[in-house]
Amino acid sequence: MAGIYIHIPFCKQKCTYCDFTSFPNRLGFAEAYMACLYKEVAERGKMYKGRKFDTVYIGGGTPSIVDPKYIAGLMKQIGNCFTLSPGPEITIEMNPGTVDAHKIAVYKAAGVNRFSVGLQTANDEQLKDLGRIHDTADFVACADLLKGENFSADVMLGIKGQTQEDVKATIDLVHQKGATHVSMYALTPEDGTPIYTDYLNGELPDGDEVASLYDYGRALLKEYGYLRYEVSNFCKTGYGSRHNLNYWKRGEYIGLGVSASSFMDGKRFTNTFDLDEYMKCILSGYFPVIESEDVGEKDAKFEFIMLALRTVFGVSAAAYKKAFGSDWREDFPAYERMKQYFEEEGDVTRIKEEYLYVQNQILTEFME
Ligand code: SF4
Repeated sequence: MAGIYIHIPFCKQKCTYCDFTSFPNRLGFAEAYMACLYKEVAERGKMYKGRKFDTVYIGGGTPSIVDPKYIAGLMKQIGNCFTLSPGPEITIEMNPGTVDAHKIAVYKAAGVNRFSVGLQTANDEQLKDLGRIHDTADFVACADLLKGENFSADVMLGIKGQTQEDVKATIDLVHQKGATHVSMYALTPEDGTPIYTDYLNGELPDGDEVASLYDYGRALLKEYGYLRYEVSNFCKTGYGSRHNLNYWKRGEYIGLGVSASSFMDGKRFTNTFDLDEYMKCILSGYFPVIESEDVGEKDAKFEFIMLALRTVFGVSAAAYKKAFGSDWREDFPAYERMKQYFEEEGDVTRIKEEYLYVQNQILTEFME
């Protein structure tokens, strides 16, 4: 399997916790940026001619903020320049407050068949505090437009003042509105973002409080029929994100657009994070890659187990042996030490459900 990731870096305003590559106030550059993106698609398409790609993920930023004609143009260009497998999964990220029926109709006509909606919380005061541009009513309007579609909703944990009741109200809402998938993840206060001050002031819930909100949310999602397939991802049967599963299976992907990263032919590479530099490079006929490294066998082995242990599918000893010709439990002596955190089923090892939230501590042991 292989995927295509496209980055659309424009947003209406910067959320207080955001350290993604997103540019408020630069929407005026959307036309020029998209023209560069089409060019990058064409050049990379030539490079990977004959290779099949199974998923396309249009992320950001806020892809739904640009004129939908650019998304239609982008999908047309991808169809012309890349070979997509039959029935590809094509996802677009959208933020409530930037969507209308016309946009969704254009996306669907362009082949989009999965939508990822950034709700975060159903508490309007918290949305405001996070610097989100929308309120709960905007999410409801967006979800109503997506009735019957395959859509995911983001739920954030660890927001200032967030209670169990807030988490319940948020999960109840996405469930009632028919989301097929939920990404429930913890807010990470990154240095340099406005919310970092709240973190330093001790105003955000601490690790134990977030873990308890996660446990509560996980149980509620289970009650509503959302099965956890990765630490932060839950879905109704058959609605797992194929694009993300490819990442966790260490599949190949090509990333296009400013800041996008790729993993192709055993090499990881990343485009520049600077919007102007990205456009200048593309217009001058260069790939805007700023970092590139061959992944050696040792790192490849670690990536394999680290990614697999994040999911409910776990590490298959047979798949590992097929990839590297050795036994992963022998390659990683930490396995013996950490055994109590694992459950085994056939040749598969996975982290026990109750330890999943602390998987990072467990995986650190394997880094030696
Ligand atoms: S919508 Fe997403 S990408 Fe844009 S500023 Fe907010 S968190 Fe960042």
